Amino acid sequence: MKEQTLAVHAGYGKGDKDSQGTMAVPLYMSTAYQFRDTKHAGDLFALKELGNIYTRLMNPTTDIFEKRFASLEGGVASIGTASGMAAIFYAIANVAEAGDNIIVAKQVYGGTTTLTGHTIKRFGIETRYFDVNNPSEIEALIDENTKIILFESITNPSIDVADFDAIVAIANRYDILTCVDNTVATPILCKPFEYGVDLTVHSASKYTTGQGLAIGGVIVERHNLVEKIKDNPRYAHFNEPDESYHGLVYSDLPLPLFCLRVRLALLRDLGASPSPFNSWLYIQGLETLPLRMRQHSSSALAIAEFLEAHPKVSKVNYPGLKSDKNYDLGQKYFSKGHSGLLSFEVADKEIAQKIADSTEIFSLVVNIGDSKSIITHPASTTHQQLNTQELLEAGVTEGLVRLSVGIEDTEDLIADLRKALG
Ligand code: PLP
Repeated sequence: MKEQTLAVHAGYGKGDKDSQGTMAVPLYMSTAYQFRDTKHAGDLFALKELGNIYTRLMNPTTDIFEKRFASLEGGVASIGTASGMAAIFYAIANVAEAGDNIIVAKQVYGGTTTLTGHTIKRFGIETRYFDVNNPSEIEALIDENTKIILFESITNPSIDVADFDAIVAIANRYDILTCVDNTVATPILCKPFEYGVDLTVHSASKYTTGQGLAIGGVIVERHNLVEKIKDNPRYAHFNEPDESYHGLVYSDLPLPLFCLRVRLALLRDLGASPSPFNSWLYIQGLETLPLRMRQHSSSALAIAEFLEAHPKVSKVNYPGLKSDKNYDLGQKYFSKGHSGLLSFEVADKEIAQKIADSTEIFSLVVNIGDSKSIITHPASTTHQQLNTQELLEAGVTEGLVRLSVGIEDTEDLIADLRKALG
């Protein structure tokens, strides 16, 4: 099936035995599930039979969301989490423990920077950073304790495009897992598994709902990941008995092992599971994701071209622009557009703040991926605590303005920016 059909139907269709014939996906609000008898309960816990036990572990509505998201991304399975940050933390915690290290692009979302640079450090996991514009830096950072390489397909907020081929080639030489945060690109514009990536993570709080309705996240696993993990000494805990689960050996199971371990170990013990209601909202959002991403992308390109020609704008960062340093990578790895995120520079902080304070349609919000357009001045908000040097390293100048272009009429958005630029 083609993408737009999957967006509307994957995971729930004609003949689903429990569907009651409902056209809309049902919302199952239930903390727990009845077992037929104690044998049934025992079989479920022992994984002899797959089924619902408790919503911290699984839920029928979340299950449909997970199937639909995985099919759009081209993965074998996915697992929903309570936020994008929980998805990123679980992707790391599923492979790394005290004494291990992970390799992360410098240009990642601020929350990912604080998670990897501070929080997991206290758990004894070291983070080594590389410049996403220079993947050759990765090789020198690898040792026998390196567990995962994490980067974003389009970076937030610096709007760089990762060179998948270069990063995956290095990772595969050392049998290390790669994980892409594909939030900004969405499964519609970029399919990381086609370039050999092993895992993706998303903040479902962004384009997935499309309306800024709910916080959530998802981890997606590629087909046949077991080939890379089976008997790989880096991932011994997938190949040795898990004492917390009756000696289960994940790599022996005929199931998507990465997602299964997140479910059985991390959701069980740490519990950042999605609310079924949020999963239901994401399902509504996914139905229109392909349509919306085309509109976000075409509008963002028109706005980038308008800004590039404006005398007050010194630079525009958008991979769809021919003048952009990421144009070639954007053409190589993205189909159907380059998403709705762009940034531009004006002379100084005061002018940037004045623009952000003057727009009428663009709202001053620290979010992205909403149908409603958003303007952000990173130097006074998300990056306020950074000094001038740190701002430069993060690719954030004081005159930088970030836009998340929504799906309003493009001409109205350009008129709003024209007026605000003065
Ligand atoms: N990844 C990216 C690229 C983001 O932009 C964000 C949030 O802005 C996150 C992850 C974190 O997601 P959440 O806010 O759902 O925890």
